[in-house]
Amino acid sequence: MSHIFHRGGGGAPPLAVSAKGLWVVDEAGHSFLDASGGAAVSCIGHGEPRVVEAIRAQAARLDYVHSGAFTNAPAEALADRICAATPLGMEKVYLVGSGSEAVETAVKMARGYHVARGEGDRHHVIARRQSYHGNTLGALARGGSEARRQPYLPMMTETPRAAPCFAFHEKKTGESEEDYAIRAADTLEAEILRLGAETVSAFLAETVVGATAGAVPPSPGYFARIREICDRHGVLLILDEVMCGTWRTGSFLACEDEGVRPDIVTLAKGLGGGYQPIGAAVCTREVHEAFADGRRGFVHGHTYMAHPIACAAALAVQDVIAADGMAENVGRAGEKLRQALQARFGNTAEVGDVRGRGLLQAIELLEDPSRKASFDPALNLAGRIGDACQRHGLLVYPGRGTVDGWRGDHVLLAPPYNITEADVAEIVDRLGRAVDEALADVPHRT
Ligand code: PMP
Repeated sequence: MSHIFHRGGGGAPPLAVSAKGLWVVDEAGHSFLDASGGAAVSCIGHGEPRVVEAIRAQAARLDYVHSGAFTNAPAEALADRICAATPLGMEKVYLVGSGSEAVETAVKMARGYHVARGEGDRHHVIARRQSYHGNTLGALARGGSEARRQPYLPMMTETPRAAPCFAFHEKKTGESEEDYAIRAADTLEAEILRLGAETVSAFLAETVVGATAGAVPPSPGYFARIREICDRHGVLLILDEVMCGTWRTGSFLACEDEGVRPDIVTLAKGLGGGYQPIGAAVCTREVHEAFADGRRGFVHGHTYMAHPIACAAALAVQDVIAADGMAENVGRAGEKLRQALQARFGNTAEVGDVRGRGLLQAIELLEDPSRKASFDPALNLAGRIGDACQRHGLLVYPGRGTVDGWRGDHVLLAPPYNITEADVAEIVDRLGRAVDEALADVPHRT
């Protein structure tokens, strides 16, 4: 019997024993092609010797010091690297241990900024109905995944909401995508005005939506309008790039492609590539200056922040990405992946959409795409596809949309940045067989 508190009601999952490149091997000797890096984590593949050596060397040199007493060389170098990687002018990096911690940090940083500037009434963080920001209570309160929130509702603070930006489902017939983008963004302004701008601290959103909807890039112009609205009302813009940042969609920050500079951006998964737990809240000089001038500084902190071994691992991951030109491969490989998905699922009536940016791609399944009608949630189609994939030796990240009611099942793919065309073909072939199998298994109403 396993003494690990496994999540599900069922038995323990298979025991993984090793991983190399794109492949994970379990105790029984089965190999799994890792097409999602867990939840978009493993961005350079598994078992990279250059990262393993960096971890070993750092552990031997300096394992841990408390960040209240010391800074350390890998943390300094990693912060420099993060700021140099984006042309947007982000200047200060707060290093933590996970995506949820990064979001908690960002939300508190925004509040601290306003307090330090004498605007202590600003406390509301407006988020969107379509979002995932983490599982700690503060981050969960801001997230829009009802399934994840439901058991904890009485424990969470109310989060005001703006509309998601999801043209596939929300754009009206005849409406241009640009007009739709403005309509979606303007729901933020309406919410700010309803609450009273003087009480609003920040707007929090994923630049490209991951877990709750399946690789949804924003409509053109959406974030530019959001930026204008935030500026007009003195509200900070926090972009959650825990999943879509660190080259996942092609640029170091996905918001670079929107031409929008956030006040704070969160990173995690692709920062350490799974070699160590690490996250970051990265802010502009203007945000940081509020604390520098304040009397108390930023009242926050975690025991493992700026952990030397985690930072050394993340730095090595970023070195590998640079040395092997992996970031340059993301756009190209992402296009190949999307084309392969479109070709394979073009004749699958239930695949309503193939979408994404860079190497964050997804398919969405609907019972009747022409009416955008989803399968009965009780069928758990996404879960069934995930299970079928595992039987076919493929790891994907399945999910169910939860925007404004039921939206559809999706399968998210987030392979490593160095993926080849042959890998893409293998992934899509296995996924195709798994999807066919799962669809044959579920009753259709139409
Ligand atoms: N934000 C986003 C956008 C995420 O995708 C995730 C993780 N799926 C988180 C925050 C939370 O990160 P973690 O699980 O590392 O706490």
